[in-house]
Amino acid sequence: MAVLERLTSQDAIALEDKYGAHNYHPLPVVLSRGEGVYMWDVEGKKYYDFLSAYSAVNQGHCNPRIVNAMVEQAKTLTLTSRAFHNDMLGKFEQYATSYFGFDKLLPMNTGAEAVETAIKICRKWAYERKGIKEQDAQIVVCENNFHGRTTTIISFSNDEGARKNFGPYTPGFLKIPYDDTEALEKILKEHDNIAGFLVEPIQGEAGVYVPSEGYLTKARELCKEHGVLFIADEIQTGIARTGKLLAIDHENVKPDMLILGKAISGGVYPVSAVLANNEVMDVIQPGQHGSTFGGNPVAAAVATEALEVVKDEKLAENAEKLGQLFRSELQKYIDNSNIVSLVRGKGLLNAIVINDSEDSSTAWDICMALKENGLLAKPTHGNIIRFAPPLVMTEDQLLDCVSIITTTLKDFEK
Ligand code: PLP
Repeated sequence: MAVLERLTSQDAIALEDKYGAHNYHPLPVVLSRGEGVYMWDVEGKKYYDFLSAYSAVNQGHCNPRIVNAMVEQAKTLTLTSRAFHNDMLGKFEQYATSYFGFDKLLPMNTGAEAVETAIKICRKWAYERKGIKEQDAQIVVCENNFHGRTTTIISFSNDEGARKNFGPYTPGFLKIPYDDTEALEKILKEHDNIAGFLVEPIQGEAGVYVPSEGYLTKARELCKEHGVLFIADEIQTGIARTGKLLAIDHENVKPDMLILGKAISGGVYPVSAVLANNEVMDVIQPGQHGSTFGGNPVAAAVATEALEVVKDEKLAENAEKLGQLFRSELQKYIDNSNIVSLVRGKGLLNAIVINDSEDSSTAWDICMALKENGLLAKPTHGNIIRFAPPLVMTEDQLLDCVSIITTTLKDFEK
């Protein structure tokens, strides 16, 4: 450890480059500490975090209540597997199902695993409850979706980087444009073998695309009408990020299955979950799905505390208030800007679109300059920069960040 602590940023990056697979392209910053909305690099430079580990750290870095829950539980019992019961899981399941308003919860670890779980439950429900012929069920997904990186999930991605040379692809998915209820209605009318509609309430990775008002309500109605499960992937948008507990709460929509990950643990420990009512969840019987770590006592303790923090600290309300302020302040800048064409988002999940070609390096260059100026953000796709700070931010901190962002952008004006 002592050796690692003396590493410079350059040394740490060189080690990763030599000994780690090159499956990411990180900004060249090496972080060694986090607290609340801040992170520090190994040289001691302080940054505002404007990514929150892709919206996992909503409750702030190293939230003391969540870390304490983890440490206390880790001293007592960490893992039993589901071969035995543990005394934490049931309590967490009771707490989380009442928190989100479902009968049952199935715990997993990562977001992609939870999406896989929802796909399996949806297919099984289609064969055993809806009466679709076995092997024939289809799940409708949206163009430009991001639901994770497993072989099945990338099979219905249209990101070539995520897909190419990872085939053969898993069949059973039909793709329609996002934010298009006519396309959904058409496909539901044309096929009688559709089991579910899997959708992100806001497309985060694609560049924070907020659908038109009423889209989720109409999509939900169509699914009900056609006996199709409405499955909301709230892994990125959930847990107060968009100014409500869930992004679907903006339209008071209740899905048949809710997928959560990331901030359900405050970024302290990998926890994910699928929630559903009995008529759907009860299709899963012993031996049909599971994970050694899913539902372990540390995960249960951490997630329970992380959800309590969201309520106690009124993080949804704070995200809503600061999100409005952030977009209105940036809009004032954009009104006179050549380099930024728009800001969009909900709560504290926002993005700016850079006025340059999709394949230009401008968004990356701006993120590099933001880093120099003490704020960490990352381009999503092409020329879009996502801004998603921890939700424990104060108004003064947010205004300080707006000032860093606008000062940085000024250097890029044409
Ligand atoms: N679904 C959505 C909407 C996501 O944003 C992500 C991750 O960014 C995932 C699924 C995958 O989660 P994980 O990276 O934990 O597997």
